[in-house]
Amino acid sequence: MTANLRFDPIRLPPECEMLRREVRAFIAAEVAAGTFDPNQPRYGDLHDRAFSRRVGARGWIGMTWPKKYGGHERSFLERYVVTEEFRVANAPVRLHFVADRQSGPILLKFAPEHVRMDILPRICRGELCFVIGMSEPGSGSDLFAAKTRATKTNGGWLINGSKIWTSNAHIADYMIGLFRTSPPTNENRRHGLTQFLVDMKTRGIKVNPIYQMTGEHDFNEVIFEDAFMPEDHVLGEIDGAWKQATSELAYERSGPERFLETLYVLIALVRALGPKPDLRSAEGLGRLVAQLHTLRRMSVSVSGMLQAGEEPVVEGSIVKDLGTVWERRLPARVRELAAFLEPETTNRASLEEQLAFATMIAPKLTIQGGTTEVLRGIIARGLGLR
Ligand SMILES: Cc1cc2nc3c(=O)[nH]c(=O)nc-3n(C[C@H](O)[C@H](O)[C@H](O)COP(=O)(O)OP(=O)(O)OC[C@H]3O[C@@H](n4cnc5c(N)ncnc54)[C@H](O)[C@@H]3O)c2cc1C
Repeated sequence: MTANLRFDPIRLPPECEMLRREVRAFIAAEVAAGTFDPNQPRYGDLHDRAFSRRVGARGWIGMTWPKKYGGHERSFLERYVVTEEFRVANAPVRLHFVADRQSGPILLKFAPEHVRMDILPRICRGELCFVIGMSEPGSGSDLFAAKTRATKTNGGWLINGSKIWTSNAHIADYMIGLFRTSPPTNENRRHGLTQFLVDMKTRGIKVNPIYQMTGEHDFNEVIFEDAFMPEDHVLGEIDGAWKQATSELAYERSGPERFLETLYVLIALVRALGPKPDLRSAEGLGRLVAQLHTLRRMSVSVSGMLQAGEEPVVEGSIVKDLGTVWERRLPARVRELAAFLEPETTNRASLEEQLAFATMIAPKLTIQGGTTEVLRGIIARGLGLR
């Protein structure tokens, strides 16, 4: 086994607890004002432009970024608390979440200064929705097989091809897209891809909806036909995106959103079981809470590593694998524990409704952001097993 794998036992510092109280008070005020219902899981999948702006005004977007770009120079652990509270409350953060989590950090590292100065403050104000343009038909797990081409033209590049499963493309202002600028080489099959900042209003970009099993419209197909990208929208090294896209995944994979997406069914179960659950249910609940606690400690640990400037790709993959498998199985486990509840139990109807929704979305949890099998391949390599 490699000596590089580790989960430091990090505890959230006291300033995080103060921040948590502030976030909870903000959420309570939003709920009281009717912005969203924390007991309605669908809200977690919705966007709300006005809400995102209010979150931005509180300084909770771009928290870790330099003040020069509208950021707040706070820690990854403080950002963790905000993400966690919004997720648990099913708050409608969809508009700004991807920009805050991963697109902003990419721009900070790889965009030209004038682009950073233009876009990052707008992300921090909660004004911009970013999307991830990686997957293509025939290139999901194997990102380096991407075929959508960027061809050099006067003053920039022309994009032709398509992306698929692009979450939020129908509401997006920008995409960070991965496009082929050269063929792969014999020595390096990952060579030849470049990341671009894509303005979604560009002529030649068409967004077609793809509907989920729940009937909702979350993701899309995005078609590019001679869509022009200016030179200053190239992010980082031409042909060298393989070095950049993998560090992005550490941000994408380890946060609390990777094990809390179906948490509402556990909360609904606790409410339905009441203060005196039977022994079997209490044992089952205890087991689930212990697992959740362990996942959270691991996820906080990865956040601590990001704070220390490290790139915990393997540790992030472990959190995502364990976390998403846990949150995917949770609805079935909760259904088992709820099996002996009396039909007239208080809160039973709400539990059933939430279970129905969680059961429908559960299959996607271990696919989005990298499948279980692919993550286990990365983990095995990190452990020196393959
Ligand atoms: C809800 C949702 C939202 C998404 N949002 C986005 C988004 O915003 N932007 C974006 O770019 N993509 C997005 N995706 C796409 C997602 O990243 C891909 O679906 C995922 O990476 C898998 O790719 P695929 O669907 O092409 O499946 P494939 O790669 O074809 O995989 C099919 C099966 O083969 C297995 N497999 C593949 N390769 C290997 C291997 N090397 N070893 C072992 N098993 C393997 C997989 O685990 C899987 O079970 C989203 C997906 C979902 C479900």
